[in-house]
Amino acid sequence: MAGRPTDDATGDAPLAPATRVVQLGRDPARFDGFVNTPVVRGSTVLSPTYDDLIHHRGRYSYGRRGNPTTEGLETALAALEGGDGVALTPSGLSAISIALLAVLGAGDHLLMVDTAYAPTRRVCDVELKRLGIETTYYDPLVGAGIAALIRDNTRAIFLESPGSQSIEIQDVPAIAAVARARGITTLIDNTWATPLYFQPHKVGVDISIQAGTKYIGGHADVNLGTISAVGEAWKKVHATHGNMGITISPDDAALGARGLRTLAVRLAQHHRSGLEVAEWLATRPEVSRVLHPALPTDPGHAIWKRDFSGACGLFSLILKPVPEVAVAAFFDALTLFGMGYSWGGYESLAIPFNCSGYRTATTWAPEGPAVRLHIGLEDVADLKADLDQAFARMKAVAGGDGM
Ligand SMILES: *Cc1c(COP(=O)(O)O)cnc(C)c1O
Repeated sequence: MAGRPTDDATGDAPLAPATRVVQLGRDPARFDGFVNTPVVRGSTVLSPTYDDLIHHRGRYSYGRRGNPTTEGLETALAALEGGDGVALTPSGLSAISIALLAVLGAGDHLLMVDTAYAPTRRVCDVELKRLGIETTYYDPLVGAGIAALIRDNTRAIFLESPGSQSIEIQDVPAIAAVARARGITTLIDNTWATPLYFQPHKVGVDISIQAGTKYIGGHADVNLGTISAVGEAWKKVHATHGNMGITISPDDAALGARGLRTLAVRLAQHHRSGLEVAEWLATRPEVSRVLHPALPTDPGHAIWKRDFSGACGLFSLILKPVPEVAVAAFFDALTLFGMGYSWGGYESLAIPFNCSGYRTATTWAPEGPAVRLHIGLEDVADLKADLDQAFARMKAVAGGDGM
């Protein structure tokens, strides 16, 4: 795992994000001029002398502990996040579980946001519970009111903003300030914004997690997790990640690095296209509400505008009430939007969702069926036309049901 890199050593003016994602974490001179860091395969690393071996003088010690390919990605991400270091894991979910294991122990209490990525709840309700760690779920809109939920044994507060599927924006700085004042570690799943559009460490969050599977990979061809941390939290994450033997393949690290190079231009396009489709959907008679924080009408808009520098291509909408057969007709009619989980790739996706069965601190009872869209890099007019014809099919099936 890489320590804090010195990428800004070139001068006083910090480079812009689009430049940094191109420059960070690679060193062509080290690899005979090749632009990209090679995929280095290896478990054993040989030492030239007995003395070097017993004094651990090598830059690398053993494949599981890192190689030039993984180190390049760690270094780039640590610089982008402003973290003291980054640990790579084989999936976004394993980044979440390893980070939680690093900062919690038997008898501790965790405050987990109710709108977290649903599999995160299983980490808490099954695995952490088994280890004697208790979880309380909290309303994402609690803000500084989180103070009232803190117990003597509360050791960590986990955030995710916007919330999975339902897209609530949290007041991250307010929650982080309450936690800091009490010595409680904060963790955030920052997959939606990426470190380009929101920088958790800058507002006092200790641990910033990415499902690199999404925008960092960016091509729906890799599962990857990243944990950036500062201070004591980085020492703990570094230790637990190493002790538990977590490692990723150099091929996956290379895919992550390749995705990173185009992250800024891809995200800018996802932002533009996503917002354009969201604005268009808000005018459609079939749609009750669009849940997108960059829309001025969104309840989270003010905080989003204050804290974020952009939006990705993922948002949700609530349809006006229609029978399920009509919803099915809508999805089955889509030709450019694929139906499938995950997001953050170049392609557009659509899924139905319903949070009512598992949330415990908030109530999910929207007025109609809920749909999550990922707006990919296709032409926006083509995407609107696809949605338009799918709405027509939906209405035809709903027929006399008042549409
Ligand atoms: C997809 C996702 C994850 C999990 O990533 P995997 O690589 O699928 O394990 C975690 N958090 C969020 C917000 C996600 O969207």
